[in-house]
Amino acid sequence: MSHFYYINNDSTFNPGQHHEVHTKGHADQLGLTNKTYLGIFENEVKAVAAGKSIYSNADGCACCCPLAHKG
Ligand SMILES: [Zn+2]
Repeated sequence: MSHFYYINNDSTFNPGQHHEVHTKGHADQLGLTNKTYLGIFENEVKAVAAGKSIYSNADGCACCCPLAHKG
C-alpha cells in the first residue's frame, strides 16, 4: 500500500541530526510543520531515496520508516 511521505526540513530534533522521512500520518502525529512533501511511494526505501535528492543525509524515521532507518 502506498503512502504519502514528507521529509523534515529541521534536522535538529533527532540524535543523528538527519533529515528524517516520515509518513503523512506520523508527520501529522508529531505536529511537523517545517516539512517538504516528497510524494507517494510504495515503501519508505523509495521515499528516502527521493529524500536524498533534497538532503543528502536523509534517513528513515525509526518508527514509521524502519526499513529505511540507518541511524
Ligand atoms: Zn516517523
